[in-house]
Amino acid sequence: MMFDILIKSGFVIDGTGAPGSVQDVGIIGDRIEAIGDLAGAEAKQTIFAAGKVVCPGFIDVHVHSELTMLGGIDRFAPLQMGVTTQLASPDGFSWAPMTEAKLKEQAAYLHVFYEDEGIETDGDMSIEKLLSRYRGQLPSNLALQVPHGSIRVEVMGWENREASEDELGRMELMVREWMEAGALAFCTGLEYEPMRRANLHELVRLSKVTAEYGGIYVAHQRGYAEKVEIGCSETFAIAEQANIPVHISHFTVDDAAAAQIDSALTRDIRVTFDMYPYPAGCTHLLMGLPEVLQLGSPQHVMEQIRKKSVREAYADQLQKAFPADRVRFAAVGSAEPTGWEGKSLAQVAEEMNLDLPNAICEILLQTNMQALMIYHWPEERYKFVEQTFKHPLHMISTDGIYVGRRPHPRGYGTYPKVLGEFVRDNKWLSLEQAIYKMSGFPAAAFHIKDRGVLAKEKFADIVIFDPAVVDSPSTFVNPRQEPVGIDCVLVNGHIVIREGAVQPGLHGRVI
Ligand SMILES: [Zn+2]
Repeated sequence: MMFDILIKSGFVIDGTGAPGSVQDVGIIGDRIEAIGDLAGAEAKQTIFAAGKVVCPGFIDVHVHSELTMLGGIDRFAPLQMGVTTQLASPDGFSWAPMTEAKLKEQAAYLHVFYEDEGIETDGDMSIEKLLSRYRGQLPSNLALQVPHGSIRVEVMGWENREASEDELGRMELMVREWMEAGALAFCTGLEYEPMRRANLHELVRLSKVTAEYGGIYVAHQRGYAEKVEIGCSETFAIAEQANIPVHISHFTVDDAAAAQIDSALTRDIRVTFDMYPYPAGCTHLLMGLPEVLQLGSPQHVMEQIRKKSVREAYADQLQKAFPADRVRFAAVGSAEPTGWEGKSLAQVAEEMNLDLPNAICEILLQTNMQALMIYHWPEERYKFVEQTFKHPLHMISTDGIYVGRRPHPRGYGTYPKVLGEFVRDNKWLSLEQAIYKMSGFPAAAFHIKDRGVLAKEKFADIVIFDPAVVDSPSTFVNPRQEPVGIDCVLVNGHIVIREGAVQPGLHGRVI
């Protein structure tokens, strides 16, 4: 038999969690044709992988990368970590289907996470128009999710109220349209505007439509950490009322969270979750404002925080909301260079000669609300990274956000860090368990067809890495660093990383 590509003598870990063994992998076109002892087989190209691990390409279920993949300095960062499939619309963020005026508002709100050069905001944006922007331009595969945020903005604007029956009907139609375009899940971000204004009834109605198509419900919950019970009760109520599997985004397992997951399992709720391997979060500064101040359109929020009376009324809450020495600037959008990136909120407030509440409001105004922050956990919570990664329902994601001068290192180092530090050095997980959490498990939970597992007739999305040296040099001070030991990556049967270097050609697909 003549293969296009033959990977010889690697330690094959198939992504199901089963023990690995030395095998050859033969590829024809975009699929795996054979796995086993392929001695004597001929191939147009042969990759010698003795001493290396050969495993499925990694599937990142929560990452803000769909515009990053279209161009710019971080275009290939996910691929260099071994990520071959990424999910779109994390936290319910996207840009379709939207009419022009609403699209412009949504793009302005999301700019802090995407620096949206890739999005054309003149004219309406249909789902098809958005997808055509991606086709032929992707280094790795993009799987779709229904974005609750763009749907609610389009139907109801930034209004703080329940949806009417008529509005629910329009939103259901849009869910249907996305599911028919191939979406795998309904995705929401219940601590972001205007999604947090949705009630349980709305979420159940939209989840029911998703369930008709075999999709799942995915949420950045209304509460984490000390509010985990609030967040989880809502998620589990949706699971039961819409009869749908649920997935919780960026979920840390402490004792209270573990008890929530256990209670879901005793109720036969199908639940999974993802988390990245760093004890620090990252989101916009806006999220730290008292909830009532986040209400309404970005324009309205800016008008509010400009008022002296408002700042005085909420000074106490603003003071308490931020552990100002543990919060650092990742990015300030396209504002004039401020020199703030990398500094703590406390430092910048001091430089501005303002108390914390006034500094926060001024920073939001000066950056046009484009301040993206890294929130370092208090040290006593560090131990929960290990507890999270050892939980059997946990899968690995990056939550990468590719903007600014000091982005969170999770977008550049997640997978090699887990394989090097957590697997090889700390021995928290076996290689087989870690790879399952990166490939087979996400593919199963999100119903991604023919990917995430190495087997005959599956797509040839493959990573070859050196388990003795794999690691990430990315740090919070110097995040944009290439991984070590990720030697070779294939996407749809094409070699896209060879000896750690990006090869020409864009072989990702909208799947
Ligand atoms: Zn989120």
